[in-house]
Amino acid sequence: MGDLVIVNCTVVDSRADSGADGRTAEGARVLTDAAVLVRGERVVLAGPREEVLPHAEGARVIDLDGAHLTPGLVNMHTHFSLSLPGGAGEGVKNLNPHELALHMADGARRTLRCGVTTVRCVAEKDHADFALRRAIEAGTATGPRVFTAGQALVCTGGHGHEGSDTLECDGADGFRRGVRTQLRAGADLIKVMISGGIAGEHERIDTPQLFSDEMAAVLATAHAWGRKVTAHAGPAPVIAEAVELGLDCVEHGYQLTPEVAAAMAARGTALVPTLIVTRCKEFFDELGVPEWMQCRSLGAGPRHLESYAMALEAGVEVLLGSDMPPFWDFEGTNATVRELEHMSEGGLGPARALYAATLGPARWLGAAQDIGTVEAGRYADLVAMDADPLDSASAFRTIRWVMKGGRVVRDDRAGEANHV
Ligand SMILES: [Zn+2]
Repeated sequence: MGDLVIVNCTVVDSRADSGADGRTAEGARVLTDAAVLVRGERVVLAGPREEVLPHAEGARVIDLDGAHLTPGLVNMHTHFSLSLPGGAGEGVKNLNPHELALHMADGARRTLRCGVTTVRCVAEKDHADFALRRAIEAGTATGPRVFTAGQALVCTGGHGHEGSDTLECDGADGFRRGVRTQLRAGADLIKVMISGGIAGEHERIDTPQLFSDEMAAVLATAHAWGRKVTAHAGPAPVIAEAVELGLDCVEHGYQLTPEVAAAMAARGTALVPTLIVTRCKEFFDELGVPEWMQCRSLGAGPRHLESYAMALEAGVEVLLGSDMPPFWDFEGTNATVRELEHMSEGGLGPARALYAATLGPARWLGAAQDIGTVEAGRYADLVAMDADPLDSASAFRTIRWVMKGGRVVRDDRAGEANHV
């Protein structure tokens, strides 16, 4: 594959420290009239056009027609094998293993087309996620880069126990074995359910589900193997205890308090707020989700948003994650972009929203040398859109071109034939 040079674009990405090369706007870097030279899977040079072009002789030119170019999005809370209570979820549960793999591959392909070039899967059925990841890496399936927890660990009867995307464990030994079982399969991180949630009929979102020794066993085992742990968690006391034990990330955080948010900020525990899951009635209706679950979800919405505001106020690192299928058509866009809009409008603002969708996740995943910015050495995982993402997170609604690993996987102007 020869070199490519991307021209006629404004590069917008995040920097861990503002004040790096180029102008800065709240930690964002803006390079107008930029060019990006891509060799194979990676960016070899990104900068002002006149600096890049002398190195691009013979390269194939991709003219983006004045678009804004950002790193591909990273969705930190996905399930390609999601099955919620209700008719549609029953359908997914009844798929045989071959059908499930194809169903997940279809979701992965749609996800990539949305501009999500990396996902963090946090509970997938039957270890099919590892097969999906191998197929994507081998090029036989089309999808984002996959970081995965395998099955989520849960106590007997705990949150999500109804499906094969969780593994029931009990006692410290049981949870140690659960962690090791996921690591043996190839897990990049560990997901554990430490409190009740929305989708379990016989539980509440504000009650604990693990004992301290069980949580400690998960964290110590995963950390000893150099893996991070993220926890499905709602209530403040449960989160406070887990943060004290060294938890790396909280999913949802429905009922944070200023105190626990401060503890998370101090310990560097991130939050993936998944705000969309308590404001998605239309999605639940489409899936035939039962009334009890809808009530619990939508009823938790206002407190969930307050909780998120407390996290921002305390300086907790927040990261993009949809929980809903990342590609799902929702309120005029897809679930990933809709979630980013909620995060931005809920107090983050567009520049930090860009960080929460790109470099923030890359750093959490320990992958910032490969993804999350548009710079030399990183994978050429890029999205182009007409609107300016520093004006509004809604700019991501206008994504019209997607590249993963130096390969164009979506180009709306080239017509459907070019789509994968
Ligand atoms: Zn989830």
